[in-house]
Amino acid sequence: MSNYKIETLVAQACHYIDAATGGVNLPIQPSTTFARDADYQLVGNQGYSRSGNPTYDQLEKVSAMLDGGAAALCFASGMAAIAAVFETVNINEHIVAPRVMYHGAQDWLRRISEKRAIGLSFFEADDLDDLKNAVQPGKTSVVWIETPVNPTWTVIDIAAAAEIAHSAGAILAVDCTVATPVTTRALDFGADIVFHSATKYMNGHSDVLAGMLVTAKLDDRWEEINFVRTHAGSVLGSFEAWLLLRGMRTLFIRYEKASNSALKIARHFENHPAIEKVLYPGLESHQGHDIAKRQMQNGFGGMLSFLVKGDADQARQIASLTHLFLPATSLGGVESLIEHRATIEGPHSLVPDNLLRLSIGIENSDDLVGDLEQALGCLHVGD
Ligand SMILES: *Cc1c(COP(=O)(O)O)cnc(C)c1O
Repeated sequence: MSNYKIETLVAQACHYIDAATGGVNLPIQPSTTFARDADYQLVGNQGYSRSGNPTYDQLEKVSAMLDGGAAALCFASGMAAIAAVFETVNINEHIVAPRVMYHGAQDWLRRISEKRAIGLSFFEADDLDDLKNAVQPGKTSVVWIETPVNPTWTVIDIAAAAEIAHSAGAILAVDCTVATPVTTRALDFGADIVFHSATKYMNGHSDVLAGMLVTAKLDDRWEEINFVRTHAGSVLGSFEAWLLLRGMRTLFIRYEKASNSALKIARHFENHPAIEKVLYPGLESHQGHDIAKRQMQNGFGGMLSFLVKGDADQARQIASLTHLFLPATSLGGVESLIEHRATIEGPHSLVPDNLLRLSIGIENSDDLVGDLEQALGCLHVGD
């Protein structure tokens, strides 16, 4: 199988054929408990579903293959996977993360730092010298990055961040929810663990909550993460695992379509009179475009943000004037979404008031451009 392109392998879920029936889709195993044989031995790998489910096996195999890792673990949500990573950090150790990043993960870091005497430092995502200053050799356990960073889409150089993390004795974990393995394989750039909110592009249909971790190597930390999943019970349901694998089979075509449309939309609105700035890694004007060209090999993703000429109220109004873009949070689904990010993140948000976050789906791109044009046109925010 190794001679085939990843896109080929993922479409066939690693050439899956059910051994018992020849079915080209895997069966769903709903059992929570599994009977032992005459010698009182387990028949499969599991005795009880909190430690895993046979429906995960192919899903995790495909995920490990996609990211080029040694193994993968699926979780009940992205946040459950993130929490499991940070459960491996000991009291008096230290975590480094970007100052602007996926807000839910940052809220979680602040909480464990306060409750457990774990050090926490933030760095400016566009400044690796700031990261160098933030790590504490011998004390930093995990450097967590996200690229492109939500919702400014700042691109972080994974290889450079890995070097900084490793020189301090820490691991580098990368949230690649937006830069899926279609375009970025973080482990190839030296990351130790890659994280995906599989709720987003991996599943792609806004109907499953799931998280995925992929590791470069099988080590003690990975074992501990698996222990946490079992004992905290942050396991995925078997039906959700099945749906997720079905969604992943079309990851490449969905992601490529969304990326192409996003680039077209970014270019179309870059000099629009109602818009101050378009944030998108595929634009030459973007902070991280050069790194993105090295690090994102098959498109720059389907996520972009508009800084509109106007205030929070006007930005929110635009988000409710679109007909096609749905005014909802989340991302990576087949349907296009628009949201006023500062409202979603709440009063502590560092996100500019005039920022609208767009998740581009797989609809016709001219329809999407037209919808944004009419919404911006209704408001004359540039006047
Ligand atoms: C959604 C998201 C998460 C959290 O994942 P859930 O599946 O919602 O728990 C983490 N990071 C990023 C970048 C996300 O978009």
